[in-house]
Amino acid sequence: MERYPQGDWALVLESHRCKGCELCVESCPRQVLALNERDKVVIVKLEDCIFCGLCELRCPDFAIWLEKPVVLAEVAR
Ligand code: SF4
Ligand code: SF4
Repeated sequence: MERYPQGDWALVLESHRCKGCELCVESCPRQVLALNERDKVVIVKLEDCIFCGLCELRCPDFAIWLEKPVVLAEVAR
C-alpha cells in the first residue's frame, strides 16, 4: 500500500489490486493519475488533487481511495 499525504488528506493506492482499466484516470478532473508501463495506476501530479473522491467512486477493485488522517486520528482517541 502506498499513501500520498497532502494537507489533511491522503490518496492511497493498493497497486496489486489495480487491473489497469483506466476508469480512475479518465474520471479524474485534474489529470492527477496515469497508468505506468505495467498498467498500474500511479500518481503523476499529487499537487493538483482536489480530493474529490471520483477515483475512489469509479474504481471497481478498491485499488484507490481517500483518507483523512486527521479524522481517523480523532476517532482513534
Ligand atoms: S480525488 Fe479527485 S482529483 Fe484526486 S486523484 Fe481522485 S479523481 Fe483526481
Ligand atoms: S479504476 Fe481502479 S483498477 Fe482501474 S486503473 Fe484505476 S485503480 Fe486501477
